Amino acid sequence: MPTPPLSDENWKDYPEEIERLEKIAQERKKFNNLAEANEDRALYIDWAKDRAKRVHEEMKADPDIKHTGKEICGFDERLALDGGEWEIWRASAEGNTVFDNRRIDDRDVCIRKKCERHANWRSIFADESQLQGRLFSEHLVQLKHEERKIKDRQKKRSIRDSREGVVETGPWLS
Ligand SMILES: [Zn+2]
Repeated sequence: MPTPPLSDENWKDYPEEIERLEKIAQERKKFNNLAEANEDRALYIDWAKDRAKRVHEEMKADPDIKHTGKEICGFDERLALDGGEWEIWRASAEGNTVFDNRRIDDRDVCIRKKCERHANWRSIFADESQLQGRLFSEHLVQLKHEERKIKDRQKKRSIRDSREGVVETGPWLS
């Protein structure tokens, strides 16, 4: 059953709820964006791993480099960008090209074989992105749940009000 629209009078009666619903809508938008950005990061991490392998193979195949044996570090400095810097890069022409092609073509990576500085970057960044993703989606579920509770309350009230013909004075935050 669709929620019956509340009259202006009802809306005015429960400013706390209206305010909270607005906040929830803002939060949901914000966290949806964060979750999306995080999914992009996860993709980028995968592509960075692929690219590291590719660069390593290319180096091995290049007779001038004479690169053998252990895999290169392959760290990409873009992984170290903070949230805002990443967003700017992601929106740039370069960022769009990478995401359109679903691969990173430049060879701008750390080619050290034994790299202390970026040790375990693959698992560190992948784990972080997974954890972030989980936190974001848990928070989004909470917000959705809270929003539903408020809307259910409004619905019940509106049904009761129309039945009894009584204007309630709320707020009903029980
Ligand atoms: Zn490195």
